[in-house]
Amino acid sequence: MSETATRVLARMFERMSEVIETEKDHLSELDGAIGDGDHGITMSIGFKAVNAALSTLDLDTASPSDVLSTAASGFLNAVGASTGPLYATGFRRAAQALADRDQLDLAACRDMLGAISEGIRDRGKAQRGDKTMLDVWLPAAEAATAGVASNLSKPDFWKAVENAAENGAAATATMIATKGRAARLRERSLGHADPGAVSAAALIKAIAGASCTQAE
Ligand SMILES: [Mg+2]
Repeated sequence: MSETATRVLARMFERMSEVIETEKDHLSELDGAIGDGDHGITMSIGFKAVNAALSTLDLDTASPSDVLSTAASGFLNAVGASTGPLYATGFRRAAQALADRDQLDLAACRDMLGAISEGIRDRGKAQRGDKTMLDVWLPAAEAATAGVASNLSKPDFWKAVENAAENGAAATATMIATKGRAARLRERSLGHADPGAVSAAALIKAIAGASCTQAE
């Protein structure tokens, strides 16, 4: 029997926490260049809290949607400001998007990525090109939509999503910040990738990894 969608999502959040731990110092360094230097620590605290919250769920009875809404609350409780409400809104939207689904096929993954990116956009009122995590989430979600539409295989689908995320993160180095603390630097933010965009690309890599290894 294949692993349930609930367990895949729980494992996905474990992987997200793992990649953040690996990237923690790098993310704080990036944030030190254009912000207050805490991004790695903030994300680490957030995803540890997510996994602590998920450890209280019974994965045999919880729905995929329960995993995402529990993750949203866990993240928000631990990270009240800045990134906290953005990811909490994204995960909550994803919980709604997966409400009637018990399979994590590529269409469900597309809907999940779309819901996360729309939630972040609506909550943060940012646009593409503002040098934020949206410069990663929006193109990744678009790549997922295009991937399903053109019937990509699972590995090709996730490769396309990961590439869009990585390109989006790299592109933020060529943008001038208009949101958050980095906006005060204006042109001086040029040449530095946005830490929130870089962490978003790492999270998407973790999502791809968890979903790719799901048994058929
Ligand atoms: Mg910061």
